[in-house]
Amino acid sequence: MENRHFRALMKSAESLTRSQREKLRQHLDACQSSEDSHRALNRHEPKACRYCQEKALVRNGFQNGMQRFLCRDCGRSSCATSETPLGRLRNKEKLAAFANCMREGLTVRETAARMGFSVDRAFRWRHLFLKNAVDYQPKDLTGVVEIDETYFRHSRKGDRHVRKSRHRGGKGSTRGRLAKEWVPVLIGRARGRPFVIDAVLPKMTTVAVDAVLVDAIDPLNAVVCADSLPAFKGLEQRLQVRCDLFVQGQPASKGVHVQSVNAYHESLKTWINRDLRGVATKYLSNYLAWHRLSFWEKSTVSAPDWVGCALGRQLINL
Ligand SMILES: [Zn+2]
Repeated sequence: MENRHFRALMKSAESLTRSQREKLRQHLDACQSSEDSHRALNRHEPKACRYCQEKALVRNGFQNGMQRFLCRDCGRSSCATSETPLGRLRNKEKLAAFANCMREGLTVRETAARMGFSVDRAFRWRHLFLKNAVDYQPKDLTGVVEIDETYFRHSRKGDRHVRKSRHRGGKGSTRGRLAKEWVPVLIGRARGRPFVIDAVLPKMTTVAVDAVLVDAIDPLNAVVCADSLPAFKGLEQRLQVRCDLFVQGQPASKGVHVQSVNAYHESLKTWINRDLRGVATKYLSNYLAWHRLSFWEKSTVSAPDWVGCALGRQLINL
C-alpha cells in the first residue's frame, strides 16, 4: 500500500465507533493468522513427491496462498498438505491460530470459542493434528533409559448410550486391575535428556514391551532401568541390552531408580485424569503424543512447529 493511502486509512480509523474498531481488530487478527498459517505451511515444503516419492519437484505457482509443486516424474501437482491429515481441511488460513490453541493446551470448548468452530469441528481438528505425532518416537536411545508402566481406566467417553456415566473417573469394580477395565501404557524416558517413549499396549506382556523397545533403544549403548514387573524380566536376554532391574521391588543399587519416568507419569496422569477429566481409550495414544509435544524441552514447540508435526515432520525425539 502506498504511504499516502496508509496515512488516509489511519486517519479514517480515528472516526470509527467502538464496535467498528472491534470488528477491524478481529479482521486484522484474521489477516495475521492467515499469513502465519501460509508461512508455516510453506516452511514445511515437501521434499519429495507425495504420490511417487520422487525428488524431482519444481515450483509451480501458488494456489490459495500455498506454494504448489509439479513432479517431473509422475506429472502430478501437490502442496505441503497433499496426502497429509490436513489435506482436505477447509479454512487452512486458521491452522496457525488452531496450532496456538494446541500449544496452549486449551480445552475443546475453549478452542471452539476462540476459533469460531463448533465443538465437534474443534475436536476433529485436534485429532487430525495429533494423528502423525503418535509415531514420533525416539530411535536408538543411548545412556540410561528408565521404563515403567502406568494404567488408565478404560473409557468410552463420547460414545452414546453406553452405560450410566461414571462420575469423576469412579472406582474399578474390584481392588485389582482387571484387564478389561484398565489400559496399560508403557513410558520410557532417557535420564537427563528430553527423549520420551510412549505406547498404549494391548496387554502388559513381554511381547508388547519388546515391540515398543526394540527400535527405541540402542542395545549396545543403553542401560535400561525398570522395576521388577514380570513383563520386564528377561529383557536383558531378549533385547541383548544391559538392564538394571529392581530386585523384589527394591532398587538393586543407588543408581537404579525410575524417578524420571515416575515424574512423567505424575504429570501425564494429572493432565489426563484431572485437567481433561479423562479421555476415550481410542484416543489415548493421541493424548500421549500431545503431552509429549507439550512437555518437549520446556515447550519450545512453537505454533509453526505444531503445523509441521501435523504435516508429518518429526521435530521431537530425534
Ligand atoms: Zn510424482
